[in-house]
Amino acid sequence: MVDNIAFQKNILIMGTIVCDTGMHIGGVKESMEIGGTDNPVILDPRSNLPIIPGSSIKGKMRSLIELQGEYLLDDGKPHSCDKPNCNLCIVFGRGATEDVKSGPTRLIVRDAHPTEGTCDWWGRNEDLVHGTEIKGENWINRITSAADPRFIERVPAGSEFEFEMIYSVYQTNDFPERLKLVFEGMHLLEDNYLGASGSRGYGKMRFKDIELKQKTKEYYMNGNDWAAVSDTGELKTTQAILKWLNNNAG
Ligand SMILES: [Zn+2]
Repeated sequence: MVDNIAFQKNILIMGTIVCDTGMHIGGVKESMEIGGTDNPVILDPRSNLPIIPGSSIKGKMRSLIELQGEYLLDDGKPHSCDKPNCNLCIVFGRGATEDVKSGPTRLIVRDAHPTEGTCDWWGRNEDLVHGTEIKGENWINRITSAADPRFIERVPAGSEFEFEMIYSVYQTNDFPERLKLVFEGMHLLEDNYLGASGSRGYGKMRFKDIELKQKTKEYYMNGNDWAAVSDTGELKTTQAILKWLNNNAG
């Protein structure tokens, strides 16, 4: 059976990212900045507050799925292939050069912005500058044994960000089958880290209060708003949703 490509619906995956430890997602160092740190975090130019770029979330999810083995390439380079039925490439995207008829990349991950409560907390805390604390880290030069102190900006533990992903359903395999890959990636990420220095304990995070909503093709034509995906109201964690996708959905 040919699985035709035709837009059926968008699924909105939204909720909160909680930083259980300090997190550093690198930005660009302003070379002339006086008193600046060696390693600034990425800031939203409008609010001048930290964000978690959608590309960081998506890229990390993808790389962790690849490390599971099924999609790992011999040379260790990021996976990209020309197989029209490759779930990883269909969900997360593939290089633009390959002419493969598998439709648009299914997953879009938006930049995650700090919640209102987190912005208030950052604003009240005098130890924080634009939502970040400065952490000194010592590197020992392996040859001279000289200490090499660096100053790293990081978002403090306990900070929360609103995340949002759009997953588009074009083929019958997209739901629930391929959507599992998204939640598998989110689940893997929760036991890994986001940003830099994960081996030093940075970037431990989890998703909470997840909601699944949808707009079908008809919703778009009629101008209807997002509606909850039925039977998912009580499912708030990646694990609960993965179990639902494996057992009940579709
Ligand atoms: Zn592929």
